[in-house]
Amino acid sequence: MEVTPNYERSLAYARQLDAKDPLATFRTQFHQPLEATAKGVRPIYFCGNSLGLQPKGAAAFVKQAMDSWRDYAVTAWHDDKIDWLRLHETLSENAAPIVGAKPAEVAIMNTLTVNLHLLMISFYRPTAKRFKIVMEVGAFSSDQYAVESQVRFHGFEPSEAIIEIAPRKGEHTLRHEDIIQTLDNQADSIALVLFGGVNYYTGQFFDIKNITQKGHEIGAIVGFDLAHAAGNVPLKLHEWGVDFAVWCTYKYLNSGPGGVGGAFIHERHHTTTDTPRLAGWWGYDLSKRFEMRSGFIPMAGAAGWQISTAQILPFVVHLCSLKLIAEAGGMQALRQKSANLTGFFVCLLQSLPNYGKKFWLLTPNEAEQRGAQLSIYVPSEGKAFFQRLTEGGIIGDWREPNVIRLAPVPLYNSYEEVFEVSTFFELF
Ligand SMILES: *Cc1c(COP(=O)(O)O)cnc(C)c1O
Repeated sequence: MEVTPNYERSLAYARQLDAKDPLATFRTQFHQPLEATAKGVRPIYFCGNSLGLQPKGAAAFVKQAMDSWRDYAVTAWHDDKIDWLRLHETLSENAAPIVGAKPAEVAIMNTLTVNLHLLMISFYRPTAKRFKIVMEVGAFSSDQYAVESQVRFHGFEPSEAIIEIAPRKGEHTLRHEDIIQTLDNQADSIALVLFGGVNYYTGQFFDIKNITQKGHEIGAIVGFDLAHAAGNVPLKLHEWGVDFAVWCTYKYLNSGPGGVGGAFIHERHHTTTDTPRLAGWWGYDLSKRFEMRSGFIPMAGAAGWQISTAQILPFVVHLCSLKLIAEAGGMQALRQKSANLTGFFVCLLQSLPNYGKKFWLLTPNEAEQRGAQLSIYVPSEGKAFFQRLTEGGIIGDWREPNVIRLAPVPLYNSYEEVFEVSTFFELF
């Protein structure tokens, strides 16, 4: 990955970077929030890690689906032109490049935590000897609840079955060697390694390839929650051999609040017949689905994990967003700009005289160990400072007890905005 090496600290320089930015025009394809504008300041939206902005094209995609519903009603499922029955295939094809998968390995369905539960039903299969789950300490709350409840569902105690890897004393992010060491230490008792791709709190991008390799070496299944990774960092799930993964689409994939989730199931698991799964009619072999017979026969691939009727309205919003990403050149183009944009942000912050005193980064310094988001630690008076950012039109988010998360997103943020945000830190 090429990162512009020497940044200059000036508005003129930021504007130069924008002028040379091949993705600059994509900003106009998104609605900017109005809330801050009403108070007389131009909003700077650095919260795409929480809810991505709305693509301007999305409303037309929804309108078209609404019109199909109005004009075709039930026949829209089977009509050749509309073919809602096969819309999941179009989505899998468009979503697969985002996570580095084959289309057959991807199912767009449900929502993230639901998919996590479904895939744990299939891939967390503890035995009396091998029953532990390894995860990063302080994983997103929903993941913790999902894992605790799965462990109890199988009759184990979370305190015995869940191993959380923590940063070393005085450090905020995990060392890869500590992850590997934990896997080695408890090799025979680990059933599942379940990590975030990018940690939501620190922004650390884990070494998915090598965690997967090590997990397999000790005989475990390896899964990832890609909520903060999908659409943010380059992924090669198929090549890296990841067993399963889940993600949401409302963060870096700009597909709307509560938008449809994603699931990846490696093709090596597609043909095994002893993998348990919770089934529903939408996963049934499409050619015979409407015969409504008993005896579940799944569709081939990840599609066989679908349970319920396709969510057409969230589907079309997601499709709009995926097409926009493809138009921009896909994840490679996004990552290239993202590394530069966030790299510029890091340089500007670290060159300030109050850096290291009033605030500093929790997110790793190495560009390949982070995505768009920076987690900025503010040891004191942080909340008052965050309030000033908000009043200045900067939309980021505050995480208790003292972290500000700011994510410049390559599709719709600019170098100029990064510069402007950095000037607030100068005055902190
Ligand atoms: C955003 C996020 C979630 C949210 O899950 P939903 O089921 O979509 O509500 C879960 N896990 C992680 C790691 C997240 O970042």
